[in-house]
Amino acid sequence: MQGELAARTEWDYAPAPESREIVSIAPEYGLFIDGEFVPAADGRQFATVNPATEEPLAQVADAGDADVDRAVAAARTAYERVWGPMPGAERAKYLYRIARLLQERSREFAVLESLDNGKPISESRDVDIPLAAAHFFYHAGWADKLEHAGFGPSPRPIGVAGQVIPWNFPLLMAAWKLAPALAAGNTCVLKPAETTPLTALLLAEVCQQAGLPPGVLNVTTGAGPTGAALVAHPGVDKIAFTGSTEVGKEIQRAVAGTGKRLTLELGGKAANIVFDDAPVEGAVEGIVNGIYFNQGHVCCAGSRLLVQESVADAVLGRLRDRLGTLRLGDPLDKNTDIGAINSRQQLDKIRKLSDAGEAEGAERWSPPCQLPERGYWFPPTVFTGVSQSHRIAQEEIFGPVLSVLTFRTPDEAVAKANNTPYGLSAGVWTEKGSRILWMSQRLRAGVVWANTYNRFDPTSPFGGYRESGFGREGGRHGLAAYVNA
Ligand code: NDP
Repeated sequence: MQGELAARTEWDYAPAPESREIVSIAPEYGLFIDGEFVPAADGRQFATVNPATEEPLAQVADAGDADVDRAVAAARTAYERVWGPMPGAERAKYLYRIARLLQERSREFAVLESLDNGKPISESRDVDIPLAAAHFFYHAGWADKLEHAGFGPSPRPIGVAGQVIPWNFPLLMAAWKLAPALAAGNTCVLKPAETTPLTALLLAEVCQQAGLPPGVLNVTTGAGPTGAALVAHPGVDKIAFTGSTEVGKEIQRAVAGTGKRLTLELGGKAANIVFDDAPVEGAVEGIVNGIYFNQGHVCCAGSRLLVQESVADAVLGRLRDRLGTLRLGDPLDKNTDIGAINSRQQLDKIRKLSDAGEAEGAERWSPPCQLPERGYWFPPTVFTGVSQSHRIAQEEIFGPVLSVLTFRTPDEAVAKANNTPYGLSAGVWTEKGSRILWMSQRLRAGVVWANTYNRFDPTSPFGGYRESGFGREGGRHGLAAYVNA
C-alpha cells in the first residue's frame, strides 16, 4: 500500500515491512489494577483499531467510576505500605529493571505502537521506545538522590498521581509521567488515550515482569469520562495531564479548590523561524522534521514557518523538492516517512481546518500523492499566502499541515511568532549565535531550538506557558512536580 509521492525517479525502494510476528495481540485486554489484569466492573469494552487499515486490533476494558475507585484505592495502599516508605535506592532498582526490559522488548513495543497509533516504524523504533527507556534510566538515577536535588533536605512524595495522556506518543507520554512520579515515591493511576491503549498495557505487563509491587502502577483504559473520573477522584493527590487546551481547561476547573497539585502540558502553534543567513538544506530538514514528524501529531510541532522574505522562494522551492521525496504509506514499512492519521476524528479535524485555510484565501499545495484506499491518511501539505488572522495560523491543526508566513526584520519575526495564545516551543535558524540569543530572550515559548527541531532528552525540562499549560516534564524541574519540598 506504499503511496506514490512526487518526483519519482526511474527506481524505487522495494517494500521493507517489519514483521508483526514479534507481537501477540490478545483479543481482549483488562484493566491493570493492583498488579492484576481484570475486566471492568460492568464488563464494558471498546475496540482499538489500526488506523492504517481500520482493522480492529483488540477489545479493551472501559473503566467506569467503580474501576477508577478500585485503582485509586490500590494506589493508596501501595503508597502507604510499600512504595512511599521504600528507600530510594530500592525504588531505583525497579525503575532500572523496567528500563532494561523496555530495551529488551523494544522491537515488540515499536511494532505494537505503530500498529495501534499509525506512526512509521522508523519513528517508534528510533524515537519513541528508546526515549521511553531513557526516561526510566534517567529517573532511576534520581530515586536515591532526591535530597541532593535542591528540593530541601528531605523531600517527600506527594501520594497518588492521576495521569491522563494523549495518543500521539502513547508509550513515551506514559514514561514521561510515570518515571519521575515513581522515582520520587508516588504511586500512579494512568489513563491512556482511547485510541492507543495497547503499549500502556504492555508496559503494565513489563512492570509485572519487573516485580513492581502491586498497586504501584495501575492502568485504567477508557475514554474521556474515565479521565474525568480520575481527575475528580478525591483520593488523588496530583493530576498530570497532556492533551488539548480545551480539556486542560476543564481539568483545571475540576481541580480548582481541591488542593490537588496540577501540571498541564497542552497544545501549541510553534513558529519555526528561518533567517536569510541560515543554511538552506539544514533549515529545510528542520522544517520537515518540525511539522511532518509523527504526521504533525506533536504538541510542539513547527506548524508555522516564518521565513525571511529575501530567501522565501529559495527555501520553499527546496522544501517542495524535499516533500516530493517523502514516502507515505504502510507504517510498518521501514522506508515510510509519513504514516497514518491516528483516528477518523482527527482526520476530520485536519480536513476541516485545511478547508478553512483555502476558504480564507491561503494557497494549498501537496506533492502528487496517492493515498491508500483504507485507513486514515492525509498528504503532507503546505499553505502559502497565509495571514496571521487565518485559522490555520492560529489554531492547532495537529496534522501534517504547514502554514507559511514571511517577515523582513527580526522584530517582525518575534512579533509574528508571539502572536498566538500558545507558548510551547519555537525554532530559530541562523548562523549567528548572537541572533539566536536575542531571539530566544524574546520568544514567548517554553522551549527554543536553535538550528535543530524536535529534540528531546530526559534531562531537559519541557513545557510551556499561557494556553500551552504550566509545569515542566523532564530534568530536575520535572521531578519538582512530584515532590513536597
Ligand atoms: P484530549 O485532550 O481530549 O485527550 C487527551 C486525554 O484526555 C485522552 O486520554 C482523553 O481520553 C482524555 N480526556 C478527554 N476528555 C477528558 C476529560 N473531560 N477529563 C479528563 N480526561 C479527558 O485530546 P483529543 O484526543 O480529543 O484530541 C483533540 C485535539 O487535541 C487534537 O486535535 C489536538 O489538536 C489536541 N491534542 C493536543 C495534544 C498535545 O499534546 N498538545 C495531544 C492530543 C491532542 P480519550 O482519548 O479517550 O478522549
